[in-house]
Amino acid sequence: MSNYKIETKCVQGGYTPGNGEPRQIPIVQSTTFHYDTSEDMAKLFDLEASGYFYSRLQNPTCDTVAAKICELEGGSAAMLTSSGQAANFYAVFNIANCGDHVVSSSTIYGGTFNLFAVTMKKMGIDFTFVSPDCTAEELEAAFKPNTKAVFGETIANPALTVLDIEKFAKAAHAHGVPLIIDNTFATPVNCRPFEWGADIVTHSTTKYMDGHGAAVGGCIVDSGKFDWMAQKEKFPGLCTPDDSYHGIVYAEKFGLGGAFITKATAQLMRDFGSTPAPQSAFLLNLGLESLHVRMERHCANGLAVATFLKSHPNVTWVTYAGLEGDKYYDLAQKYMPKGTCGVVSFGVKGGRAAAEKFMKHLKLAAIETHVADARTCCLHPASATHRQMNDEELLAAGVSGDLVRYSCGLENAEDLIADLKQALESI
Ligand SMILES: *Cc1c(COP(=O)(O)O)cnc(C)c1O
Repeated sequence: MSNYKIETKCVQGGYTPGNGEPRQIPIVQSTTFHYDTSEDMAKLFDLEASGYFYSRLQNPTCDTVAAKICELEGGSAAMLTSSGQAANFYAVFNIANCGDHVVSSSTIYGGTFNLFAVTMKKMGIDFTFVSPDCTAEELEAAFKPNTKAVFGETIANPALTVLDIEKFAKAAHAHGVPLIIDNTFATPVNCRPFEWGADIVTHSTTKYMDGHGAAVGGCIVDSGKFDWMAQKEKFPGLCTPDDSYHGIVYAEKFGLGGAFITKATAQLMRDFGSTPAPQSAFLLNLGLESLHVRMERHCANGLAVATFLKSHPNVTWVTYAGLEGDKYYDLAQKYMPKGTCGVVSFGVKGGRAAAEKFMKHLKLAAIETHVADARTCCLHPASATHRQMNDEELLAAGVSGDLVRYSCGLENAEDLIADLKQALESI
């Protein structure tokens, strides 16, 4: 599929049925797999042969869908996980151990921030958070001798900042470590971070990839370009024998293209088991088949809504990187010329109370914590997810009391705008 365009890969990537085989990907609803001899199975356990033995580690349906996402991102290997949280945890923990350090953009998804700053910190991994807008010198100053990776989001959820991927990749590579990019909001349809120097890409497939609010899931893709062996002393997990797998050296046995994902599967999936269900992988694939068509509409609606909001007297500010004049417009044009995403944030004139009132009057947009869904959804963090915070605390968290996050679905833009208009005018 590698010569086909992204639209064709969305529809047909990852699976080519043989003569008489099912046209749609088969759901292999089986925990275990049959072998004739113990020797056959032993080869799998020793990673001497490839094949399936237990669905906690690998399942054919999940692998088929991972292969499609791998093609979409232009990677060398990929794996599905049961959630985006698991994908980001595995991607970092696969190379950073207790005593190590990671540099991360500060504007990242709240769940990821908590995973890094609280939970992984308890595991002995330290994070330094830098503004995505930092200078090359500020970024440089964040590195330590024990830094093992750099992390950021193409378009941050919910801050909607756009990461200068090349700037972050350059800094990471100068220190001999990979850049991990969470590409959830842009999707590979709009941005392929590997083309800009990123080494590992992660996704919460729960968002646009699934796109229908049907299945929580995640994915990790390896570019196959990062040379672990050239930084042998930094990455002992990949470059020295794994005693839990009969002394295999992943980087030697599976090469640049396979080492990272094989290790994450063989060790992390084996031990933590954040396994996606084959049914969920099937649902995800249905979403992927129309991802390119849906992203076009999400972006068109996003731009139409952002343009309308910008001109409305009851709106004080609008953040949408696809909108001319936005702080991140130029970066978005560079990294995502086809469009950014469908999520817009804006401030309601009158602050917290006015925003609460506005929310009550929405008819079409549903109030949900979810984003990136076929159905338009909307959240006022100050009265929902952040409601225990006062105005000062909100500001410190980068969420002002007037902020509304509006995720444009696939409906008609005129209907969305009419709904916004009546709600804005009734406050
Ligand atoms: C939602 C989200 C996650 C977490 O994914 P889950 O599938 O909810 O576990 C990670 N990163 C980003 C950018 C997200 O939007």
